[in-house]
Amino acid sequence: MRRLYGVLATFLIVLATGSGSLAFATQTDANSQKPLADSPLTVEVPPPSDSAVRYYRTGNAWWCFNLLWSLAVPGLILTTGLSRRLRDRAENLTRGQWYLALLAYFGAYISIVGLVDLPRSYWLGFVRPHAYGLSNQLFSKWALDMSKGFGIGLVAAALFLWLPYLLIRKSPQRWWLYTTLLSVPLSLFLVFVSPIWVAPLFNDFGPMQDRQLEARILTMAQRTGVEFDRVFEVDKSVDTRRVNAYVTGFAGTKRIVLWDTLLERLDEDQVVFVMGHELGHYVLGHLTRSLLLLSAVTLLTLYGVHRVGSLLIGRIGPRFGLRGLSDPAALPLLLILLDLFGLLFAPASLAWSRYQEREADRFALELTQDNQAGASAFVALQTNNLSYPYPGTLYKVLRASHPPIGERVRFCNEYRPWESGQSLRYGGRFTR
Ligand SMILES: [Zn+2]
Repeated sequence: MRRLYGVLATFLIVLATGSGSLAFATQTDANSQKPLADSPLTVEVPPPSDSAVRYYRTGNAWWCFNLLWSLAVPGLILTTGLSRRLRDRAENLTRGQWYLALLAYFGAYISIVGLVDLPRSYWLGFVRPHAYGLSNQLFSKWALDMSKGFGIGLVAAALFLWLPYLLIRKSPQRWWLYTTLLSVPLSLFLVFVSPIWVAPLFNDFGPMQDRQLEARILTMAQRTGVEFDRVFEVDKSVDTRRVNAYVTGFAGTKRIVLWDTLLERLDEDQVVFVMGHELGHYVLGHLTRSLLLLSAVTLLTLYGVHRVGSLLIGRIGPRFGLRGLSDPAALPLLLILLDLFGLLFAPASLAWSRYQEREADRFALELTQDNQAGASAFVALQTNNLSYPYPGTLYKVLRASHPPIGERVRFCNEYRPWESGQSLRYGGRFTR
């Protein structure tokens, strides 16, 4: 085990120091500073403010720390023998009923981790965004949201955690395959219910206040053949000063949600462009494709956890009192492995996500043909969200789910195939 941690620590140190000097470095790309063209329509990318640069740099340091932290906490719980003691206590308490013992162990585990993690989550979730002027959330709302998150975690665990454990017990060699197969309908179910059962626990979702703008948006949606009866506006201004919008849900719960902060800070044309982007995700089937990709990643991850986990338990299990993969006391080991495999597959998943975002941008440009609105909307996103417009390569590879803002503005400025009579990539997906 010590050797594993040695290898792990070396890897992380290389990652952290290498990333500091190499790719997270905040040099702007040479091309980024020259004006794109002399066209009056070209929108310039403003240089990041001092606080945006600081936010970016400290954010990268935090990313490295968080990674170490997410490995160190379960690592300590496992190696100090605390995990084994918690399991013994849980089993005594529940008189050997494995499901109840599992739940009791899990409840104790997330309570301990939640407590140990409280200073870090308070700093990152409350102090830091306030220090950068990104939040005006009240402490009471932050604390309430944290407690709700904890409660939802417990309920979700009570409902679903037994499934993979039962499968490990019943089919020790094939559980990873069956768990993945089961995760497909389960993911669909969660995507279906989260907009109606989970999201409203944290914020108020209502119809868009500006009915005229909503009508304009719905008319655009009709052009794409996607059926939406309404657009949701959410009161994110109680939590943040950032601006955003997203698509979520599945079948009867599918919806486009606009943060009220976005509606406050962006003009009508910019909001319409953002909606074009969100519609693009729907029309191009991004949600379904992401779920398929997620299943593939889940399969590989669980297979990896199965192989490496079984190997490690064979080697070090007896020393830490672990009986097998289905032993609740092995949960910290499973979490460490899930984290490491998550890191391993992150570059591929993020590249896929960036590709989809670029195509949604392209769709919005072809649909609205309003390059000015698109480019200026991204500049508004940059300034309001303190985004760093030209992050380094390592940032992109390991962290970025969206293309850098600088690249998105440039794409909006340059992509105009309709002006030279070229055919549109998604021309067949909407009516004129
Ligand atoms: Zn998007």
